[in-house]
Amino acid sequence: MSVTDYGKVYLIGAGPGNPNYLTKKAERLIQRADIILVDRLVNPLILQYAKPNVEVIDVGKKPYAKHIQQQNINEQIIEAARHHQLVVRLKGGDPAIFGRVQEEIDALNEHDIQFEIVPGVTSASAAVATMNTGLTMRTIAKSVTFSTGHFKDSEENEVDISNLINGGTLAIYMGIKRLGKIIDQIKQYTDINYPIAIVFNASCFNEFVVTGYLSNIIQRLEQHHVEAKPGICIIGDVGEYVDYSRQTWPEHRPFYVISGEQQEALEICEYLYDKGFGCMVNPNQAKHIDYHPSQRTYYQNFINDQQDVIYISTSHFKQSIEQCI
Ligand code: SAH
Repeated sequence: MSVTDYGKVYLIGAGPGNPNYLTKKAERLIQRADIILVDRLVNPLILQYAKPNVEVIDVGKKPYAKHIQQQNINEQIIEAARHHQLVVRLKGGDPAIFGRVQEEIDALNEHDIQFEIVPGVTSASAAVATMNTGLTMRTIAKSVTFSTGHFKDSEENEVDISNLINGGTLAIYMGIKRLGKIIDQIKQYTDINYPIAIVFNASCFNEFVVTGYLSNIIQRLEQHHVEAKPGICIIGDVGEYVDYSRQTWPEHRPFYVISGEQQEALEICEYLYDKGFGCMVNPNQAKHIDYHPSQRTYYQNFINDQQDVIYISTSHFKQSIEQCI
């Protein structure tokens, strides 16, 4: 096949989950997509910007679980580009930060398939925004390192902590499972009991923050159910400036499933999401929206996983959203 026979692939960062953190470009491309291949960490609500009849393929790489190999994902992307003009490959956060974007670029180049990267908000940025602090600070932390706690083929490698030791901030992705080992490693090089903040589900309705110091963070984590939840560790002196005022959100909030005209329902979701409520457009309002089965199943499974689900229609929000929640 030649270049012209394939569609174009957009490698898009979906951000950390909050739909309001999508770039305009990402949103427009999702709206126009002919097919979407999505990672597990992408909030299903973001897929609801897509045309309802578009196929969504969950290439679901699950951390700590048997996963579909990257090779297989590459093949699915190429297959999608063979049959569709506008292919969206949607990844959590920023595709260029621990997003295996190069592996996919190599595969696309091998087939002379056109592509473009659309950056997204990375989880470290969302995490510090949540905590009202910065990743760098003029006199406190002059640089930041994005590091990973997970290595290819689960090799036991060391995290690069040199920047932390030199007074910078260390943001560790995929580090929760090995946090004990990472802390032991830091202690080998320094006596400083650094502040550490871990943000789970950053920017999302189910976001929560655990803070402490290297000496007590593991103990504090034990008081939470953190298994399989995406969390990012921010280690360094910026941790002294954490202000997690959003912690005042009530513990048990309903999850809204909204029926009505798609665009209107999505706008209400955007509003609710920023108020700390999980939400989604109802995938089962058969009247005027004909969802592709892959989308419908994806959304329904997500709703099934939520607690305290409230079904409500856009018309309830007509007067004042605030009065309805
Ligand atoms: N490309 C992504 C990172 C992918 S690696 C980005 O730029 O954010 C997956 C890791 O990212 C997770 O293990 C977790 O450490 C982090 N992560 C992704 N989404 C997150 C979120 N909403 N909140 C906290 N951490 C998140």
